[in-house]
Amino acid sequence: MYLCPNHKKCKVKLFAEKLNNMAGMVYLIEHEFCFVNYERCARFKAGRKVGIEKVPENLFPTQAGMVDEFLKNPDTDTKKKKTA
Ligand code: SF4
Repeated sequence: MYLCPNHKKCKVKLFAEKLNNMAGMVYLIEHEFCFVNYERCARFKAGRKVGIEKVPENLFPTQAGMVDEFLKNPDTDTKKKKTA
């Protein structure tokens, strides 16, 4: 396993848990990204540029296509965007 260096600070769990407290979603995120291949994660990519604390909790790991837009405008409302 390769634990993401952002794991303790990342807010992705907060958002996933708000989605009807989807424990299964958190499990999938962690086993697809956080514990396995964090370099593919959109949040990791955005965090590398602006700091993980500034990545909005609603930017999902699968939204790699949102990273560039987010970096241009950190206030981007990712809720309106489709998953990449
Ligand atoms: S969601 Fe992405 S940035 Fe956050 S801990 Fe997991 S791999 Fe790291």
